[in-house]
Order: sequence, then structure tokens, then C-alpha cells
Amino acid sequence: ETITNHLPTAELQALDAAHHLHPFSHQGELAEKGARIITRATGVTLTDSEGCEILDAMAGLWCVNVGYGRDEIADVAARQIRELPYYNTFFQTSHVPVIALSAKLAELAPGDLNHVFYAGSGSEANDTNMRMVRVYWAQKGKPDKKIIISRNNAYHGSTMAGASLGGMTPMHEQGGLPIPDVHHIPQPNWYAEGGDTTPEEFGLQRAQELEKAILALGEDKVAAFIAEPVQGAGGVIIPPSTYWPEIQRICDKYEILLIADEVICGFGRTGNWFGSETMGIKPHIMSIAKGLSSGYAPIGGSIVCDEVAEVIAGCEFNHGYTYSGHPVAAAIALENLRILEEENIVDRVRNDTGPYLQKKWKALADHPLVADACIVGMMGAIALSPNKAERAPFDGDSGAVGLICREHCFANNLIMRHVGDRMIISPPLVITKDEIDTLIERATRALDLTL
Ligand code: PLP
Repeated sequence: ETITNHLPTAELQALDAAHHLHPFSHQGELAEKGARIITRATGVTLTDSEGCEILDAMAGLWCVNVGYGRDEIADVAARQIRELPYYNTFFQTSHVPVIALSAKLAELAPGDLNHVFYAGSGSEANDTNMRMVRVYWAQKGKPDKKIIISRNNAYHGSTMAGASLGGMTPMHEQGGLPIPDVHHIPQPNWYAEGGDTTPEEFGLQRAQELEKAILALGEDKVAAFIAEPVQGAGGVIIPPSTYWPEIQRICDKYEILLIADEVICGFGRTGNWFGSETMGIKPHIMSIAKGLSSGYAPIGGSIVCDEVAEVIAGCEFNHGYTYSGHPVAAAIALENLRILEEENIVDRVRNDTGPYLQKKWKALADHPLVADACIVGMMGAIALSPNKAERAPFDGDSGAVGLICREHCFANNLIMRHVGDRMIISPPLVITKDEIDTLIERATRALDLTL
């Protein structure tokens, strides 16, 4: 029994509407409709306050990689809370969970990414990165290297720095963002912006926008380039194969730090431990969160390469959060990583259930409403269009048809998100083949109803 689930759904909804301000929601409209109240979950399945079972094809917010209802994690959390529920890592103290987790992350992360700075979330990790790269260049005698280049339609979080680094226009429009010294270049979204070019030509062109921006802003002013290996919240935009090698070449040529925001791509989502491995890049810093703890506790961080860590170690870095390296969150993350390893979950995404899902997902492109189906590992999107051959958008509001499709999914006990008129999935990485069949059946039914 949860604390309040003895109350009838309507009463819970009324209390929710009266007192709970929801993130990324139109509060007035939600209050009229009433939120769906989720009471429990196991595996890939949520249960709501009416007893309906819902297949969660979004793993919460792209985070519950090991699935819901893991007793092992609950046990570790309870033990850690009893032993040491909190202690800080400021001012010359440390503790066992954070030490063990840092060593484990250094082992899992590619190359010489061997040092971890902790935060409570992905947004906070990116705030850290923004400050860290500037401190790095200042320490190296180049304090003017401050500008961070990012991309339109990127998502890097919702704090002032995170939302500024991100390239979401509706976020920038509220609250006067972005903050200074952040510059955005066009995204590698061939489906929407590629016109008559081939994906390969387009990928190269869009990567070269980085070089143009560096030359226009001044090499001596640019600190870093930040990007998600695969844009997630922007609609699962998988860049053409030519994009990342060219970005890597440009970052190397102009000595620009490369920050890979692995908040979604990390911990198996793309079929490797990190999206940087799938895309063949060598970042100096990776932002992590979400799948680090499979959402069982809020924790994020930055994994930093030897050279950046060494330079930062030369000064006092005046930055940190009360919950940097929280012992309970760290113990939970460590147990989550143990599960990912012991159950070969990343390998299954690469070689077994991942390819199974990919085949079925790509077949959705045969549906009359679907102009494109793309997927890497277990993050995928389908683009809805009234004219498949021309990849045409719908008349009227972008996202109106996506919203209708999402509502049909919801009514069919399937959680898929819509980003404009793209429907996206990012299921728990433990989803079975039978559950994948159910996901595809329900998605197809929702598409049929949207037609
Ligand atoms: N970076 C990326 C790539 C994300 O997808 C997100 C969240 O969706 C964030 C950062 C922000 O993470 P959080 O919501 O934990 O602050």
C-alpha cells in the first residue's frame, strides 16, 4: 500500500491539481483533465490507481534501464540508509559508496575518462561542465576561452545553464535565455532539414557549421562544444554517419574541448556502455545521469579525462552540490551497474533484444502515416507525415497529430512520447521479445486510430 492510494482516483487528482505544479505541463489544462496516477511498477509495466497495466515504452524519462521493481536495489538502499544516510564530500571527507562508484565508472568509461564529479541530475552535471571548462582554460592561461557551442534542438537540462546550453526555443522564450557566451549551430536533422542532399552530404555540412562558428567567434574564444551523441528529447535524431568523425576532426584541429552529453545515451541505451563508443568519438568530458541509477535515486555527474582533471586539480574548484556523491544514491548506482553487468544487459541490447526491437520498429515505416522509422540500440523514433514521399509536415500546428497519436497510445495502455509529430520510444533495456511484440501491436493500433 502506498501512503495515499486508498483515496479514490478523483480525490487524488483533485489534490494533485490543487497543490502540485507539474514540470513541462500546462497546469490549467492538466487540472481539468486530471493526471493519471501511477501507483506501482515492475519490469516494464506500470500500474495506475484504477488497476490498469501500462507498458512504459519510455522507461520513465529514458532512465529506468534495469526495469522497475528491483528488490536488490531496494535492499542496498535500505542498508545504506541505515549505515550512512548522508555525508558530504566537501572539505576533505569521502565515503565508501562514492569511492567504489568512482572507481567503477573509471573502469567502464572509455579511454582516459577516469575522474568523476558528482551532481544530483543531468542539468546540474551540465552546469558543472560549463564552469569546469572555463576554469580549465583560465588555469591554462586562456581565460577568454569561454564560449560553449551547442546545437539547435539540443537538450541539456532545465537549469539556467542547462536550458541555455540546450537549443529548445520554447525554453529560451521563457525567462530570457540563453545566458551569455553560449552559441548554437544547426542540428544534423536530415529528415527535417536535409532537403535534396544525401544524408552523408548533409552530415558533413552540418558538422562544418562547427568550424564556421569557431572561425567566426574566434578560436581563442571558444572553450568547448557540447552535444548528445544522439539527440534524445529533440526527437531521437540519429546523425548521418559522416557527422561525428568530422566534428571530432574539428574539435581536435582547433583544440576545443568535446563534451558528450551521455545523460540518455549512457549505460547501454545505444548498445554500448556509452553513446560516444557507438558514434566513435573521444570526448574530454561526459555528462551522465538517468541510467546511472536507472532512476532509482537522483544522481548525475561529469566523467572527466586525465588532462582536464589534472589542470582542474591545480586550483580550488569553487563548485559543488550538497548532494554531490550522495551515499545512498551512489550505493544505488553501484548496484544498478552490477545488475547491468551481471545480466549482460548492454550485450543484449547490442546483439539480442535490441536487433529484435530494431527490426520490428523499422517495419513501422510501412504504415501509411509513417514517413521514417529510425532506431539505434533501444532509442527510436517514427516520423508521422501526410505525404511519405516528400517527408511533408502536417498543415496546422506541428505536434497536433503527434499529440493525438500519444493519446491513442495512452488509451491503449502504452506510454510513447511525441516530440512534434515524431513518436519516440526508449523502453527499459530489459524488455523481453514478447513485451516488444506487445509494444509494436499497441503502437500500430494507435497509428491506425490516428489515421
Ligand atoms: N542532458 C540530456 C541529454 C537529457 O536528456 C536530460 C534530461 O532529459 C538532461 C541533460 C537533464 O537531466 P535532468 O533532467 O536529470 O536534469
